[in-house]
Amino acid sequence: MFYIGCHLSVSGGYEAMGKTALSIGANTFQYFTRNPRGRGFRRPAKEDVSALVALMTENGFAPPLAHAPYTFNPASAEERIWNYSRDSMKEDLEVLEDIPGALYNFHPGSHVGIGSEAGIANCARLLREVITPGQSTRVLIETMAGKGSEIGRSFEEIRAIIDSVDADRRPHVGVCLDTCHISDGGYDIANDTQAVLEAFDDIIGLDRLYAIHLNDSKNPMGAAKDRHEKIGDGFLGLDGIAGIINDPRISHLPFYLETPNELDGYAREIALLKSLRK
Ligand code: FE
Ligand code: FE
Ligand code: ZN
Repeated sequence: MFYIGCHLSVSGGYEAMGKTALSIGANTFQYFTRNPRGRGFRRPAKEDVSALVALMTENGFAPPLAHAPYTFNPASAEERIWNYSRDSMKEDLEVLEDIPGALYNFHPGSHVGIGSEAGIANCARLLREVITPGQSTRVLIETMAGKGSEIGRSFEEIRAIIDSVDADRRPHVGVCLDTCHISDGGYDIANDTQAVLEAFDDIIGLDRLYAIHLNDSKNPMGAAKDRHEKIGDGFLGLDGIAGIINDPRISHLPFYLETPNELDGYAREIALLKSLRK
């Protein structure tokens, strides 16, 4: 099964996202749990969430990927920002328990001068506080491009965060691999897919990988910029992307597009990717 979807707006509600996904040929999707750059939060209606769950079950969807807002900074040394990130993430995870098997993706954050090691420790402490051992949602650390003081640019840093979470909670922690970010971070995922995934397996373990953000990049490998490009129009290229979606190590995972597109552009990319899938 090829699980492919894109980022959708939550503004019309939860069930509406499922219907939109169906209308563009997707069988999964991603959305922001709240305003990505603001602080407002509106809890979704239970009936709306259960209608989405029914639609997804009926149509054989892969789990939705809920993306935390950019305003979180789990690596922060500033108590106000760290507490806000912790409390909001807790709230997000409460909502997600109504979507069995949901995935939750977050950026590990920026250390803003305190150093990666301290940033990693702060991030792991936050995960220890928000994850409950019995939860059904998997919390995914996104691989980052390494712009500014972002942590999570290297597989070693991601591994260090996971290792710092206690054993009871660690099974609920996974990774979301963003193809634009890791290329920007210096991994040649497009041309050397096999070697990069082997490195991922050695350092983190492919059993910890639950989702792929499928993006091309406006910048060459190692640029540490984080500017997504449409599929085939960037430095990863169409051949590189085709190699990624067909690699047997990851081809069973859900792929989520975060390319600069409106809905019609996403529909075209999904059709293109289906045609490239072997
Ligand atoms: Fe992200
Ligand atoms: Fe991403
Ligand atoms: Zn990005």
